Amino acid sequence: MRNAQPQASHFIDGQYVEDLAGSEINCVYAATGETIAVLHSATPGIIDKALSAAVRAQKQWAALRPVERGQVLRRAADIIRARNQELSELETLDTGKPIQETLVADALSGAEALEYFGGIAAGITGQTVPLGEDFVYTMREPLGVCVGIGAWNYPTQIACWKAAPALACGNAMVFKPSEMTPLGALKLAEILIEAGAPAGLFNVVQGYGDVGAGLIADKRVDKVSLTGSVPTGRKVYAAAAEGMRHVTMELGGKSPLIIFEDADIENAVSAAINANFYSTGQICSNGTRVFVQRDIRAKFVARLVERSRQAVVGDPLDPETQIGPMVTAAQREKVLAYIETGKAEGAQLVLGGGVPQGDRYAQGNYIDPTIFDGVTDEMTIAREEIFGPVLSVLEFGDEDEVIARANATEFGLAAGVFTRDIKRAHRVVARLEAGTCWINTYNLTPVEAPFGGVKMSGVGRENSRAAIEHYSQLKSVYVAMGDVEAPF
Ligand code: NDP
Repeated sequence: MRNAQPQASHFIDGQYVEDLAGSEINCVYAATGETIAVLHSATPGIIDKALSAAVRAQKQWAALRPVERGQVLRRAADIIRARNQELSELETLDTGKPIQETLVADALSGAEALEYFGGIAAGITGQTVPLGEDFVYTMREPLGVCVGIGAWNYPTQIACWKAAPALACGNAMVFKPSEMTPLGALKLAEILIEAGAPAGLFNVVQGYGDVGAGLIADKRVDKVSLTGSVPTGRKVYAAAAEGMRHVTMELGGKSPLIIFEDADIENAVSAAINANFYSTGQICSNGTRVFVQRDIRAKFVARLVERSRQAVVGDPLDPETQIGPMVTAAQREKVLAYIETGKAEGAQLVLGGGVPQGDRYAQGNYIDPTIFDGVTDEMTIAREEIFGPVLSVLEFGDEDEVIARANATEFGLAAGVFTRDIKRAHRVVARLEAGTCWINTYNLTPVEAPFGGVKMSGVGRENSRAAIEHYSQLKSVYVAMGDVEAPF
């Protein structure tokens, strides 16, 4: 029996806090169905405690020199790196993602965000605007208390991607993880305290959507940053608007990956695999509509199927495993239903399409990596975000056609282009409606580069200097050097 029970459900004001009156949250290991922890959803009293602590800590934190804030964040990055093995195992238990992924892509990505924003904290300054003798100076000030709300696919990374820029700018944060993956953010809270952050600066409260909604409605909150689906984004954005709060929305996608006939096929196949099967397909920016130019489609699909057939599906704690289970049984059911719809609407199933057989898969939420060929634009699987290991191949003729089809979606999170023609690559990317584009690769999201969506996929940007704009506000100060003239 695996046990990942934390000391208590919430982390507030520098310590673990429990309130058993909150409804139970069962934390289940997706590979076996075992309960690994039981937590409790935050009650109004817990929410109040977290926000009060954040309000107090924020003032103390904002009064520090920025370079001191940066030191705390960089120390937290070092602690995460030192504890990567343990944090990755916890992340695997929490999400079901293979350990070979979590060891490189979760806590370590979080550490990079803390290091990056720790490094630039001291460089967050205003400007001087000369006006003859008079002048204006600007100050980049923190917003105050930020609420972070996370999805379940990258719980630790999401917590760090939100906390790092927020704290670097002098804000405090109350973070609510997805109730499906509540454990990783608690570790970040512990680590920030160990790194020297004041108690109350980063608090974690657990709960379902109602807890997120309760946080957003509170007058003490100045900003909400959500990673989640478009329907939740709509609700959260609307609730934030009531209080004129700042928002960052990192929402879903149905991103195109366009492969022209002159592309390096082996690289394009690798990208299509990464863009659909990494994290068992549970990635917002995945290139789930793989547009392949007519003359190479058959060859591309044959190679894609041949390589994907070799994927090792299994126990996520086994270092050899490449594809783990889906996060929950409900998510697997949702994905299997999409696969059935794909078949019913006439897509040609060329790999997978079901559940792997055998004792070792019996208790987990496993699903075979699935590839459909002959997918057309109007099919459900080409229009809706599936959030599972389901790849759709769509054939196209020429450049104008594929751009129009790639853009014919409400989403605009990401896009990829494979071609050896450098002019075409830039020409196509310039016309794609997506916040993040890749040329001859896919799904690389270094902290140095802005990340976020256009259209329904989101508002604002995470990572890079751009995130600073979203966690701070400008104060403009006019300084008069002469006398004041008045009409009377
Ligand atoms: P959801 O939208 O269901 O939930 C996101 C978070 O919002 C959860 O913590 C959820 O709590 C909370 N929530 C739900 N309703 C409300 C509400 N009314 N007010 C406040 N908070 C609320 O997303 P999933 O967790 O299912 O994650 C998958 C989605 O996330 C996909 O669409 C994916 O594309 C997107 N995503 C986007 C990323 C990006 O960077 N653009 C990255 C990763 C994922 P609860 O869990 O209790 O419902």
